[in-house]
Order: sequence, then structure tokens, then C-alpha cells
Amino acid sequence: MKKCGCFEKNQWYELEKIVGSEYVITDQSEKDVQSIDVWWMTRYCFFQQENFPQPSVIVFPENTDQVRKIVQFCLIHKIHYLARGGGAGDGGGSIPLKGGLVIDLKRMDKIIELNERSLTVRVQAGILQKHLEEFLNRKGYTMNHFPASFNTSALGGFISTNGTGVLSSKYGKISDMVHQLEVVLPNGNLFKSLPVRLHSTGPDYSRLFFGAEGTFGIITEALCKIHYLPEKRSFRAFLLSNLQKGIEAGRQIMVKGLNPCLLRLYDEYDTRHILQKQYGLEKEGCVLIIGFDGMKKIVEAQEEVAYSILEQNEGEDLGEKLAVNWWDNRYRSYYPPLDYICEPWMTAVMDTVAPYEKIETIYWEMKKGVEEGFKSWNAIFHAHFSHWYDWGTSFYPTFLLKDFPSNPHEAIRLYNQILDICVQASIQNGGVVNEHHGIGMRFNRFMKDVSEENYQFSQIIKKALDPESLLNPGKLGLGE
Ligand SMILES: Cc1cc2nc3c(=O)[nH]c(=O)nc-3n(C[C@H](O)[C@H](O)[C@H](O)COP(=O)(O)OP(=O)(O)OC[C@H]3O[C@@H](n4cnc5c(N)ncnc54)[C@H](O)[C@@H]3O)c2cc1C
Repeated sequence: MKKCGCFEKNQWYELEKIVGSEYVITDQSEKDVQSIDVWWMTRYCFFQQENFPQPSVIVFPENTDQVRKIVQFCLIHKIHYLARGGGAGDGGGSIPLKGGLVIDLKRMDKIIELNERSLTVRVQAGILQKHLEEFLNRKGYTMNHFPASFNTSALGGFISTNGTGVLSSKYGKISDMVHQLEVVLPNGNLFKSLPVRLHSTGPDYSRLFFGAEGTFGIITEALCKIHYLPEKRSFRAFLLSNLQKGIEAGRQIMVKGLNPCLLRLYDEYDTRHILQKQYGLEKEGCVLIIGFDGMKKIVEAQEEVAYSILEQNEGEDLGEKLAVNWWDNRYRSYYPPLDYICEPWMTAVMDTVAPYEKIETIYWEMKKGVEEGFKSWNAIFHAHFSHWYDWGTSFYPTFLLKDFPSNPHEAIRLYNQILDICVQASIQNGGVVNEHHGIGMRFNRFMKDVSEENYQFSQIIKKALDPESLLNPGKLGLGE
């Protein structure tokens, strides 16, 4: 006889009363989807391991009040729960480690208010970034947040990992783009930060939730900054003979007060892997793509100064075509068949950020650690420098092993050994554990190493907000 799961449904009747029966899902296929994200380890283990952690139930609320009631339900019944946006995180942040309940926020995708005088938009946090941007574009605006997972991730997900898009050098991280947050706390109460961020009315507590990866509360609404669509947006590529020259040129552009929306420097391997293979470049070296946007006159004045800095640093002007082509296809290299996501290879990104005097050392230490330390596995390391500021820059390194042990335990050990080398290279040379993908489970073990004080402080906050650790346990180095 085919079993129907009716006993399980009975248990969730209270949830059905909150969101409606069609939005309480216990189907195995949905549980499978909600069990994984895009982390290599998750996908690898999902197919290797029996009893991979999975939720008991997935709930789809449509407003803040429903989220509060679901959280109160979890509190009363002592059920673990977590929030899920697009599920495109790549560190295991949305894996329901202890089972329980997944609160999928995709129905919370409403635009609440567009303010065309102060240029803000108030939205529910489950909205996909792509849908928010499409709405704004139709009205003549943009949020200017363009991460490579733009099509698949939600605003709440980006806030939770403090994500960064390709135009960050001018528009900043997501934390620079949000004025106000509404959050359902683990005790079921609602928190709303003050309507403006730049005040002297006590600490700006909204900052607590940027990068908290859903361990301190569930973000339900945000008031975001928007901009007019630019009158002009231009891109140009330059070829630098080596990485050092490229970093120095980028540094000069940023510290001299120029405001490029895009600055992206590829190392030699990435120049070959991405710009030669995918965009037909026929030269060797390090390509730097620079972009400006805004009012035409200002863009042109900035272009002139920036291009002369690049020339002084012996940058060869490759013109607009390659750069514009890159912009038009900017997400393609992150997805199959061009990226490694679906390949049966072992891979990870370990993005980091540091001041200018430290960043190059971190890059070379990581590269040496991977390529020399794991030579017997033909380990490959490559990177691009993608988010630049007037005090430092970040880079996005990838390691790749096309061959790795067939024994899962050995494979996982090897993966973690490579992560150890890379993350320690960053921490020991003045960098951080991660720049924009977050910690999730992947980097849990490094949270103490990067700063014992920071780690203790986050434990105090977690204990105060969620003493029973019901909300997303085992992430961000918090709880097991
Ligand atoms: C191909 C690819 C390219 C990527 N490129 C970029 C990039 O350029 N820049 C970048 O920053 N990231 C990038 N990422 C990483 C990923 O998109 C981000 O980590 C993003 O923040 C995840 O958002 P999501 O909605 O998919 O979140 P999920 O994967 O659903 O969740 C991620 C974490 O956030 C928590 N969370 C989600 N929603 C909420 C909420 N409303 N309240 C509280 N907690 C919540 C979850 O519990 C989990 O801990 C990329 C990922 C992929 C697969």
C-alpha cells in the first residue's frame, strides 16, 4: 500500500491555520530541494550520504505577521527552524542541520512603496533581486546591486550574507544600500530599526543583521536606496603585464578619489580562463576592466583621469568591445557549461578582503599553498580582484581539482585541508575569513581564529536573542 504521510500532516495543522494548507509542504521532492544549496560539499554529500539532513516541513508565509506566528509556533514546540531565500548560498547556510522547519520567503516578494522624492523602495525581503531590479527599471530606477547570483537569490539572502555586486566600487555592499530593516526576532517579537541610518539616537541595530546569516532573526522587510538609471555607463579594458602593476593601478584610481562603478582585475590564469576562452582575447597578462556611470559629463571627466593613470602604469588600452561584451555576459561565466558547478570536480571560492599593503601577500600565499601544497593533485588556483575601495580591495580565488580521492572521507579531508591553507593564508596576513559569500557551515571553524573577541561577542548576542538556539543552529560558528 502506498503511504500518504497523513500523520505528519496532522502534526502541522497549526501551521496550516497560519499560512493555509497549500503552503505547508511535506513532499519528499520539496524536502530534497530545501536540503541543499550550491556549496560543493552539500551537493557532494547529498548524493553520498544516507539520511542527509532535511526539514520535516516547509512553510511559505506571505507576510510578517505569519512569520511571527510561525516563529512563535517553533518556540512553543521547541522546533528548529531557519529562513530560506533563493537557496543559492554556497556555504551551507540554509541547510536544516537539525531538521525542523524551513521558512521559505519566496512568497514575500511584494513591493510596498516606491518613494520617488527620496529615492527609496520598501520591499518584502523574499523578493528575488532580479524581480526588484526589473520593477525599478520599468520606473526609470535601479538599485545597482548586481551579484552573479542576481537571477536566483533574494534580497533577504543578500542582506544575511552581506553580499556584494559587481558595481560595488561605487555603490558598495548591500549594507550600504539599505536604510531600514524589519526583522522577526527569535522570541517572536518584531524589530524595526529607525527610519534613517545616519543618526545619533543610539546604535544602529540594523547592522546586527547584515552578515548574521539568519542566526539572529528573520528579515521580513527592507527600505532600500535606489538611483536613477544612468545617463551613461561605459566600460573599457586594459592589459597590465602582471598582477602587481594591475593592483597598483587600481589602488591609485581609488585612493585618488575617482569613482568607477566597476573595477575588475583578472590574474594571469583567470585572464586565460575567462577572457581568452570566453571572450576571444588573444593576449597574455592581467586584464583590468573599468567602468563609469552617471551623468555623461562627469563620466567623461572621470574616464579621462582614470585612463591616464592606467597609461602611466603601462596599461595597454584594449578598447571598449571586450569590456562591453563582458558586461553584457557578466553572469555567464558563473554557470554551466562555463563554470564548475555541474562538473564532477572539487572546487571552492574563498573570497577575502584586506588593505592594499596586505592584499597581494595574501594572494601569493594562497596560490603557493594550493599549487605547491597540493601539486600531486594538480591543484589549480585562480582569482580576480572585484571589489575595490579607497582603503583596500578584495579578491575572489577559486581552487579546482579535476581529480580527487574516490573515497568520500578522503575527499572531504582533502577539501578541508585546502580550505585550511587558504583561509589561514588570509587570516595570518591581515585578511578575513570571507568577503561576500558568508560563513555558513563551510568556514565555521575559522571564526575563533580570525578574532576571539568578535566570536565571543557574537555568542553573547546569540544567547541573548535565541537562548535555545532554535534558529539556524550550527552556522556562523554558533552552536553545533
Ligand atoms: C553562481 C553563484 C554566483 C554568486 N555570486 C555572488 C555574488 O556575486 N555576490 C554575492 O554576494 N554572492 C554571490 N553568490 C552567493 C549567494 O548568492 C549569496 O550568498 C546570497 O546571499 C544567497 O542568497 P539566497 O537568497 O540564495 O539565500 P539562501 O541560500 O536561501 O540563504 C543564505 C543564508 O541567508 C539566510 N537567509 C536567507 N533569507 C533570509 C532572511 N530573509 N532572513 C534571515 N536570514 C535569511 C539563510 O538562513 C542562510 O543562512 C553566488 C552564488 C552562486 C551560486
